[in-house]
Amino acid sequence: MKMAVSMYAALMAVGLQAAMEGPAGAVALFPLSAVEVSEASLFTPAVKADVAYVKELDPDRLLAPFLREAGLPKKAESYGNWESCGLDGHTLGHYLSALANLVASGNDADGELKKHLDYCVDELARCQTANGDGRCDGVPEGAGMWAKIKAGNVEEIFKRWVPWYNVHKTMAGLRDAWEQTANEKAKAVLVGMCDWVIGITSQLDDSKMQRMLDQEYGGMNEVFADVYAITGETKYLDEAKRWEHNRVFDPLYRHEDRLTGLHANTQIPKFAGLARTAQVAGDERRWDAADYVWREIVTRRSVAFGGNSVGEHFHELDSFKKLMADRQGPETCNTYNMLRLTERLFEHDPRPEYAAFYERALYNHLLASVNTRHPGFVYFTPTRPAHYRVYSTPANCFWCCVGTGMENPGRYGRFIYAHRGENEIFVNLFIDSAIKGLLRQTTDFPESGTTTIEFLRPFRGVVHVREGNHYATYKGEWKKGERIRASRPMEWHVEMLPDGSDWGAVMRGPIVYGKECGKDRLDGLFADDSRMGHVAWGPLVDADKVEYREAGKPLETNGLVPFYKLHECRYQIYWEFTTAEKMAERRAALEESAAAERERERRTRDRVQPGEQQPETEHDLAASKNSDKGYHSGLHWRHGSYFSYTLDPHGAKNCEVEATYWGDDRGREFDVIANGVVIASVKLEGRHHGEFFTEVYKVPEQAMNRKDGKIRVTFAAANGGLAGGLFGLRLLGD
Ligand SMILES: [Zn+2]
Repeated sequence: MKMAVSMYAALMAVGLQAAMEGPAGAVALFPLSAVEVSEASLFTPAVKADVAYVKELDPDRLLAPFLREAGLPKKAESYGNWESCGLDGHTLGHYLSALANLVASGNDADGELKKHLDYCVDELARCQTANGDGRCDGVPEGAGMWAKIKAGNVEEIFKRWVPWYNVHKTMAGLRDAWEQTANEKAKAVLVGMCDWVIGITSQLDDSKMQRMLDQEYGGMNEVFADVYAITGETKYLDEAKRWEHNRVFDPLYRHEDRLTGLHANTQIPKFAGLARTAQVAGDERRWDAADYVWREIVTRRSVAFGGNSVGEHFHELDSFKKLMADRQGPETCNTYNMLRLTERLFEHDPRPEYAAFYERALYNHLLASVNTRHPGFVYFTPTRPAHYRVYSTPANCFWCCVGTGMENPGRYGRFIYAHRGENEIFVNLFIDSAIKGLLRQTTDFPESGTTTIEFLRPFRGVVHVREGNHYATYKGEWKKGERIRASRPMEWHVEMLPDGSDWGAVMRGPIVYGKECGKDRLDGLFADDSRMGHVAWGPLVDADKVEYREAGKPLETNGLVPFYKLHECRYQIYWEFTTAEKMAERRAALEESAAAERERERRTRDRVQPGEQQPETEHDLAASKNSDKGYHSGLHWRHGSYFSYTLDPHGAKNCEVEATYWGDDRGREFDVIANGVVIASVKLEGRHHGEFFTEVYKVPEQAMNRKDGKIRVTFAAANGGLAGGLFGLRLLGD
């Protein structure tokens, strides 16, 4: 067994080797259509599950928001869930990408997927024509909103659930339909959308544009760089640069990590776009910033399976504690987008550490997020020991991670091979597969660490095979049927978290191993159409009931299986490596707070995270003009002369409002008001130095006066001061 190493150390070691012996100069990945993932590959069941899943979807229902916005007669009802609460239409773009990937990668035996793809593009073209101005989206009552934005009122965007993010999905879907299946109409609709976007943004000065970019917008910069590459027209490259978010990008140029507290998947697609813009513009400065942020996320912000973020946000660099305790572990979309970024970086400079990260994330997160038994996709992958994941169901769930989840399997062949010119091949991954007409790879990896590459025709040149942390270079001339046999180490080892804590994951080679922890109370395992059905709400297992490992003892691997094989169960993929004495001390302290936390959870009827866009919108945020939000010590906050939210007691009678404040805030005086009744007068005087504290206020009977049973909670300051900062808000009740 190897010594325990951090991912940082492991990847830096890879980087060093690359600097010494890595090949230099740009390479290109093969198009999906040139690569075949073999039937025997362990990726094939996930591809089949994906095909089954997309076939369950009705294109007319996905198109319904587009027809509605274009004023065309409806053919079918919209789907529910995220498809009919503001993000209407976002799934169709993912669906186009998924179909295009599956068709191109040879997974459309009966031609049905291609038929659906072409039909959707035809319908989108019809909607675009009906709109008349190039617009083609499902944003509810979008015409009025886009007109206001075009007139310079960019604040309109903040009243909605991420419209540009939504538009980006359609554009990316059309791009993939063009690039993967040469659908000419898709290209025309896409270019029309680009011109429509430019028609809006050209009316905004740079400060308004930058203000608008404070809201999530997917990879708009990436798709404009793509359209520049497709058309050669520089106006699209200029537009790609207008979608660069200075507040987030400027620190990257200075090699400063200011990611803590930012919504992760709002940023990562922009970084993939930054790399794509660097690629099409030939710009080393952008490459450097994209590589810098990749290294920060991969080596300092990621867990062993390649994912990042907790509750969708980047946490502190020096503590993964919240992640190890939370239901909402790394989001699958983040990793999908990290791999898009990695692909670009690798094409620019084929370093083994890019490929090594790609591999670990592909097996341990993306493949692991597809349930093949009951086809469905995962949103959050908790690292909390003995928790579980929930899976989407086709007609009910339209989360972002269903969208990217459908796209992934068709892309499994994307990164296996690359080439530089005609006589230099890179074999990046050991996967049963072929470059059509050139070579076939046969392997039982990761069972063993060997692979065989057989030439299907004579080949003279260079083959770089990644054997773990470096590329081995084979030069020569091979006849048809001749082979290269390659192997790589597959040692058991422990990889510690980058924060220096005693949490570690058990791995064999690049594969994360986990342990099943039973099937008790897998509440909501197959998600319904509820707004938050993507979260595994079942009970948390107390910290003192989960297994830990004695530091320094030989590594026990009995009962462990590759994490990508563990489904529909509770699991453990992180263990504390500690001593029995330390564990006993910690458990005694934990037990007390755990009991209180359980009771608090039991009584929680509704909750808002102030300062986070999505929960605030869902709870009807209203706020004074001077209201502001931010992030401090791990939590988002809001303050202002006043601000209010609507909370739902779900029928509870004895209700209390629980508010979280920061102990060093002082000089703030404000009232807490429930449905017009003052329930508390608060004075923050800095009496809890360096920590958060909560206060609980009873909601009197006379305040339970709304017909719908809900409670409007307002924080209002006296004498022109500020109410808050509020760091958490819950409605408790029995
Ligand atoms: Zn997602």
